[in-house]
Amino acid sequence: MSTLDDRLTQLVELQVMLASSPLPGQHFEVLAEHSHRAIPHDFLALCLKDADQQGYFFHVLSGLANGAIPLRLFGLDEGIVGQVLQTNKVFHYPQLAEAKPLSQDIEGVLIRLGMQAVVVVPVRQGPEALGALYFAAASTPFSPEDVQIARLLAAGLSGALENARLYQSLADERSTLAAVLESTQDAILMVNPQGVILLANPAVTKMLGLDAAAITGQLWPEVSTECTPEIRDLFTGAQPGQREITVLGGQVTQVAVLSVTTAYGEPVGWAAVFHDITLLKQLEQMKTTFVNTVSHDLKNPISTILLSADLLPRVAPLTAQQEDLRGRIVGTANYMNQLVSDLLDLGKLEAGIASSMAPLNLTDLVQEAVNGLSMQIEEKQMALRLSLPANVRVQGDRGRLLQLLVNLIGNAVKYTPAGGQVTVKMIPGATGPLASPAERGTAKMITLSVQDNGIGIPAADLPYIFNEFYRVKSLATEDIKGTGLGLAIVKRIIEAHNGYIWVESVEGKGSTFSFFLPMI
Ligand code: ADP
Repeated sequence: MSTLDDRLTQLVELQVMLASSPLPGQHFEVLAEHSHRAIPHDFLALCLKDADQQGYFFHVLSGLANGAIPLRLFGLDEGIVGQVLQTNKVFHYPQLAEAKPLSQDIEGVLIRLGMQAVVVVPVRQGPEALGALYFAAASTPFSPEDVQIARLLAAGLSGALENARLYQSLADERSTLAAVLESTQDAILMVNPQGVILLANPAVTKMLGLDAAAITGQLWPEVSTECTPEIRDLFTGAQPGQREITVLGGQVTQVAVLSVTTAYGEPVGWAAVFHDITLLKQLEQMKTTFVNTVSHDLKNPISTILLSADLLPRVAPLTAQQEDLRGRIVGTANYMNQLVSDLLDLGKLEAGIASSMAPLNLTDLVQEAVNGLSMQIEEKQMALRLSLPANVRVQGDRGRLLQLLVNLIGNAVKYTPAGGQVTVKMIPGATGPLASPAERGTAKMITLSVQDNGIGIPAADLPYIFNEFYRVKSLATEDIKGTGLGLAIVKRIIEAHNGYIWVESVEGKGSTFSFFLPMI
């Protein structure tokens, strides 16, 4: 018989073999073929609980032909294994016949076969017994060292089976992920920091005209030479964000570029996801065309209504009641007029204003906007404070910037009760939450803010305030008329001038609308 040293060496080798494979089938082969070198035995079986933990299956690994012990689900109260699984302890019987309880289908068979001694050790998963290793010997009894080695072997097997389980769940996850990547309509590309393509799903072939399977592992700059410059430069100096890119076949896609990192924050590279928004774009275009056409067609009838209402008193003197009705017609027609011109403005802004940009003096423009609103300011006896550096010059569309200032200062007057205060301020540099570090640092920006101490905007409404047709519904705004399009127009004007607008407001205290623009 080999020395304890030899057997421990064998045990370590066995553990290494078990750990080197993630497949349970191979673990069983290793045990069947090599475990007798660490623990001499005549029979070995592995028992494993079923998935519902209602019982166990008895798999003979060596010493007996398959089928001699029936392959059925044994109950947790059956045989020595049942005891091991319930108590999570090692059971060692030098005389098998004396063991209790005996299962006729297991111990009965082994006794008939001439087995005398058994050692059954639990195979654990965490604190629970997942199964058991069952050693039996015909002549020599098991020594305390045998029992100890059997324990160690079972511990190694527990680890190997746990690894197998993790490996399987990872493999399942991978195949689910692969199926999603295969079937998604979105094209997904991933490159590492050196530009090597780590992943390209089949939709890449359709959208970008690149053979997804062939380009994986190649360098993006080399495989993208035939693509449009926008696509080619997707990862050049990449910044996370979204942009619209037209791809092969004229589809419009929204492309999200994301930086990918491991759970520990180490950079893996960049991913780009192309989502087809052609249909959405077409719908948006249809909506714009529809709104523009309808708005345009409504202009004449509204003018006719206004003109007729103006002419009414000249036809015959009106009674007080008639005059009241006429007033309502004029009020409603004026509102419709405003709505139509706001809608047309939105449509025009969508088409762009680049052609009408020219250098202009923003300080003068603020003054002009304020002059235009002086009647309303006086009527409500409001205090207006201006804090403007002289001669702030920007490149812009005069009419649009005036419209923007009139809208913002007009809103401040409109949504502030009589006697309130409005302050228009300009300070050099980009400020506010939207300014990037680069913009903040440059002196080539100007921030303008319009502050009032009026009704303010509830926090819940703030995120939507620049949306088309969005108006705050509250007691304070109940009697204030408007189309809900002013701020949507303002936002588009600012964006067309490469600026940003944001709002800070506290309900009941007042609001500050601020924007910054590049100066010249
Ligand atoms: P409106 O035609 O309703 O004034 P806007 O687009 O200009 O449309 O503004 C949208 C909504 O934002 C307004 O209905 C109002 O509830 C709120 N709002 C705008 N400016 C202010 C302000 N200075 N103070 C309080 N609420 C404001």
